[in-house]
Amino acid sequence: MDDGEPRQALAELYRALGRHGLIAGSSGNVSLRIPEGMLITPSGGSPDSTGGEALVPARLDGSVLGGAQPGAVPSSEWHMHARIYGDRADAQCIVHAHSDACTALACLGERLPPFHYMIANFGGDDVRCAPYVTFGTEALAAAAMRALEGRSACLLANHGMVLHAGSAAGALRSALLLESLARQYLLARAAGPLRLLTDAEMRDAHIRFRSYDAGLG
Ligand code: 13P
Ligand code: ZN
Repeated sequence: MDDGEPRQALAELYRALGRHGLIAGSSGNVSLRIPEGMLITPSGGSPDSTGGEALVPARLDGSVLGGAQPGAVPSSEWHMHARIYGDRADAQCIVHAHSDACTALACLGERLPPFHYMIANFGGDDVRCAPYVTFGTEALAAAAMRALEGRSACLLANHGMVLHAGSAAGALRSALLLESLARQYLLARAAGPLRLLTDAEMRDAHIRFRSYDAGLG
């Protein structure tokens, strides 16, 4: 398989998330769908020390495909990535990050409510928070799938966030947007009581987004 292109795209996305401060050290992981399954970051990898050659091609059952470095281990969150690819045909790229604002909100066990119309970009009127489950487990993957119902992103209580998009570029923009919205929400809430958008206002935002390309695909 010539997987040079996905390797380069994924390594670039990983580095960009590091540069933007969304992934620090070995927290978080990213993957791309490939015909045989997924290309995913190695467990314990970090953006500044993981080149394209260290990315791990794996099937959706977690088994490592040819083309991996000897002894390479896929991210401990491969269950979560595999479940998303298995259940969501539109998912081409996944970002899991412990980015500061998303994680702060997730540590309150709270969702991102419809405080801003841009929330509509993630498919619904909020970004849900999945209950806390131990990292790297199938149970965490199941909890994330429930919170992702009808959405492309969710928070993971006391952990971070996960999202999927139609491309690596879309996943980067989505991750930056989600982190920015979480920061704005925490700032606004700390400043005083905030007004949430009504169901009708969010409905109008969803309608408008059908003819507006936010570049998150
Ligand atoms: P990995 O280093 O195994 O990808 O784990 C990082 C992480 O964020 C676990 O939730
Ligand atoms: Zn994590």
